[in-house]
Parts: sequence; structure tokens; C-alpha cells
Amino acid sequence: MKFSTKAVHAGVDPDPSTGAIMTPIFQTSTYVQSAPGEHQGYEYGRTHNPTRTALQHALAALENGKHGLCFASGMASIDAVVKLLNPGDEVISTNDLYGGTYRLFTKIFEPYGIKFIFVNMEDPANVAAAITPRTSLVWVETPTNPTLRIVDIEAIAKLTKGKAIPLAVDNTFASPYLQNPIDLGADIVMHSVTKFLGGHSDVVMGALVVNDDDLAERLAFIQNSCGATPGPQDCFLVLRGLKTLHLRMERHCSNGRAIAEWLAKHPKVGKVNWPGFEDHGNHDVAKRQMRDFGGMMSFTIKGDKQEDAIKFLGSCKLFTLAESLGGVESLMGHPASMTHASLPREARILSGVTDSLIRLSVGVEDAEDLIEDLAQALG
Ligand SMILES: *Cc1c(COP(=O)(O)O)cnc(C)c1O
Repeated sequence: MKFSTKAVHAGVDPDPSTGAIMTPIFQTSTYVQSAPGEHQGYEYGRTHNPTRTALQHALAALENGKHGLCFASGMASIDAVVKLLNPGDEVISTNDLYGGTYRLFTKIFEPYGIKFIFVNMEDPANVAAAITPRTSLVWVETPTNPTLRIVDIEAIAKLTKGKAIPLAVDNTFASPYLQNPIDLGADIVMHSVTKFLGGHSDVVMGALVVNDDDLAERLAFIQNSCGATPGPQDCFLVLRGLKTLHLRMERHCSNGRAIAEWLAKHPKVGKVNWPGFEDHGNHDVAKRQMRDFGGMMSFTIKGDKQEDAIKFLGSCKLFTLAESLGGVESLMGHPASMTHASLPREARILSGVTDSLIRLSVGVEDAEDLIEDLAQALG
């Protein structure tokens, strides 16, 4: 089945008891047993819920995996992956990491005796050099936030496969429409469902997709034991969102291209980070592993002054200043004072997050209106 058909149909069969075409919201915490231990596959709402089951099947299908697992947030899904590890284990991770993931790794799990090594994964040789007999997980994020660097998943999978090290990819920025890490050799795909999969800025949720039965069982054990599972109402909203994922992504991509190209020609704009440009440092890798280049980008204002960025952000009318991304509405952020404010300035600038850098999550409005908004704000 092709992607659009899967987005509309995968995981969702009409409800057998009523014929309802949409999976109902099974708002229940428990299920009747006809005799002790005799039930229809559902015992307790933390362990299983039919609305969640439908969503988990749909997400697995979209990522070309066998098993999907949903969590109460993207962070809860990452938390579950790290709980596969033991004290003394080492994790190699991208240095250009979502701030919340960095915080979870260093502030929560480092004190439990797990060691995290952060390397620049644009060059897979840096991963090869960091592997030791204690390496138990490689954590990739691509495209990265907010500088839109691309990591070659297939090249890293070649390094981990031979050594039987699980490879996990945070696929939030790309969505399964643009990139399927399992097809490229990854063992675990992670999503902040909050972003493109939900797509309407009305749900916080996370998900994992895996192929391996044993790994799925271990993760389901953690999911149920730790209990960070989403409610049925949220699962319903994401099931609804998924049905238009391909349509939304098409428009995110075409609007993204129009705006990136317009920004690159603007006399007041410095650098535009968007993987669709031929002179983007990892364009060849992006072209190989992604189907298109998406609507996420970042750019600087010439002169790179923070006050110019603040003035610009205050002048936009359609683009809304907010954390998060991937919704139908266009959002923008100032990483230096928002997501990356906790980094020391020098380290921040070294990683490409300069004072005037602005991140855009281009929505699905009309590109002409979005460009008009950016034009008047730059003016
Ligand atoms: C938002 C985000 C997360 C965290 O997800 P939540 O749903 O906010 O918990 C993780 N990784 C990336 C790349 C994100 O953008």
C-alpha cells in the first residue's frame, strides 16, 4: 500500500459492534471479564485501550514497522527507550539535540550511571570513533533543530548493525511522510506525535515504532510498568490528524520551498538553513534519505543582532511566536532566547544558534500571504 492510502486507512477498521466508520473513543478504564482471566484482550486501560490500539497500528504502518507504542508525550517515549539500558551503559547521541532530550539524558539518566557521549554526526566517522564495548544505544535526530543539519541514517546503521547496537532515530522533524528510518536500517523510530502527526496543535503525545518482536515486548513492558500512556480522546484526535498527514505535508513542503527561496534572495536575510538548497552542507544525504525537504527552516538577519530578530518577531502578524512546530498554522521561534537559552552564548554560537537566528515552522496557509507577512516584518 502507498503512503496516502495508509494515512487514510491503516489501523482503522469500522467498529464491529456498530459499524461506526471512525474508531470510537473508548473512554473506559477497565473491561468486564466473564470469568477470572477470561476477557477479549482488554483488561485495564493503562495496558490496552482499543482507540490506542488502532492508533498504534496506524503509526506502525506509516513507519513500515511491525509494532507501534504510544506514550503520553514525546519525552515519555524517549524515557522508555533509555529504560532499556543499565548503569554503566553508554549512549552515543547527536550533539545538535532537541533541548528536552538533552535535559532528560544529562539531568535525569546520567545520575543513574548511564553515560552520554555527544558527537557531530554529520560525519559518521565521529560515531565510529566513539563506539566502545559499553555502547548500548545510538540516538540520532535528523533533521536537527534548529539548524536543519542532516545525519546519514544508513551510514550510521552500517556501523551499529555489525556490533548489534540498537539505533534509534527521532523522526519528529521529518515525519514518516518524508523519511522512514526503519527502511534505512534503524531499530527504533521515535516521534513527538505532538508535531506533524497530530498536526493541529491540540495534542501532546509520543510514539515508538519497531520491527523486532522481542524489542517491542520489552518496550511494551516499560510502557505498561511506568504508565506514561495517552488517553483515548487524544488517540482519537491523532487518528483524525493522520488521515490528512500526506495532504498537509505536501503543502508544508511546497510552502517551505517557496519561503526558503524567497528568504534566500532577500537583501536583509543572512544565512537560510533549509536542506532543499543544493549548497546546504548535507543536501546530497537529504536528497537520498528524504522524499522532499519539508517546511522547517531557520535563517539569520544580516548583521546578526538579537534586537533585530526580536523586532522582526514582534512585527509578524500571520506567523505566531510560540514553542512547538508541525501544526497547520505557521509558527516561529527565537532559539537563542527560547529553546537554547540555557546554553552559554559561545557554545550556542559555535553550534550555529547565533543571536538573530529565527526558526520557522511553515504551515499550510497560502504561501503568498505568508511571504507578504515576512516581507512587511523584514521591512
Ligand atoms: C517536541 C520534540 C520532542 C519532545 O516531544 P514532546 O511531545 O514535547 O514531549 C522530542 N524531539 C523533538 C525533535 C521535538 O521536536
